[in-house]
Amino acid sequence: MAPAQQNVEVCDEGGAQINMRPKPNGIKDSSDIKLCENNNPVLQEDSASEKFNSDKDFDISKYEAMEFSARIRWPDLIVQLFLHVVTMYGLLLICTNSVKFYTTLFVFATIYTSGFGVTAGVHRLWSHRAYKAQTPLRVLLAFLFTITGQRDIYTWALDHRVHHKYSETVADPHDVRRGFWFAHVGWLVLTPHPAVENRRAALRRTSLDLLADPVVRIQKRFFIPLFALLNVILPIWIPVYCWDESLINSFVVSFVTRFTLNLNIAFSVNSFAHLWGNRPYDRFIKPSENKLVSIAALGEGWHNYHHVFPWDYRTSELGRFNISTNFIDAFAKIGWAYDLKAATSSMIINRALRSGDGTLEEEPDPNFKTT
Ligand SMILES: [Zn+2]
Ligand SMILES: [Zn+2]
Repeated sequence: MAPAQQNVEVCDEGGAQINMRPKPNGIKDSSDIKLCENNNPVLQEDSASEKFNSDKDFDISKYEAMEFSARIRWPDLIVQLFLHVVTMYGLLLICTNSVKFYTTLFVFATIYTSGFGVTAGVHRLWSHRAYKAQTPLRVLLAFLFTITGQRDIYTWALDHRVHHKYSETVADPHDVRRGFWFAHVGWLVLTPHPAVENRRAALRRTSLDLLADPVVRIQKRFFIPLFALLNVILPIWIPVYCWDESLINSFVVSFVTRFTLNLNIAFSVNSFAHLWGNRPYDRFIKPSENKLVSIAALGEGWHNYHHVFPWDYRTSELGRFNISTNFIDAFAKIGWAYDLKAATSSMIINRALRSGDGTLEEEPDPNFKTT
């Protein structure tokens, strides 16, 4: 589906805010490479309001040099172990046709439908402000996101802003330099590095835009009852009531397995897409273009592009499989999504020529002048 061009705000080099961010360890040459960071207005404010925050007083090298050993958060570990062990049993039930066909259909339909609440909602809309959305769409996205059970919008978006701003440093909540398992799920069951806590507190003071949205405020305030209703009670009740599934099967498959698969799809962006794949736009960072993650995560695996142009609502170049972009385009057609931000092709090629690994699939225009 073509993007709704009439609503796309094309950003060029002149219009884009490019800031230097703390240089991750291991980068040898930063003199001619500008690492683009999230240029959403909140983070611009953040760098401007140093009296509260921040980069000026925050010396990441001290935190990098600090001795730190994380402790296990046992309640979180036990919850994750429970979810994953029960999910193994749930997958066995599905693979051996031990649950009703409609239950399996319902589980996978819910996983992918609710996934838009993560991709188009808490990620592209609330974390990055890559487009704007009318209230009905924001309510729909908050509803879908709550079904996935991935904490409240405010907490998720705040952590994601910290991740982008301090990617691959000790202040990154799921710093992939600590290995696959830490980036995948370990960060949720271990105590955070003091640098993460420091930056979370700093961004909390400047991410006021999130709480200015009544949809975010309401979802945050009523998160526990909404979580219980949308992630637990309704998914268990619907298969039992509508097609006579057994209560235990519905609990195992429609609640635990669905919830855990949804979590792992989101986790895979932090782990797989930060480790494996090519880096056509910036070879100096770990986020990578990962097709399999993109298929599983509704288009969120084009992660090298996304970390270079985090404000682009497409999170990838046009032509890549990205069903969440199609979702936003469809709502742009009826006016519920608007002010869609996107990078120009010249900006993309420019950046790829400057810092990419040479795997950009498009042939650069020979007449195109780099800056
Ligand atoms: Zn990332
Ligand atoms: Zn992001």
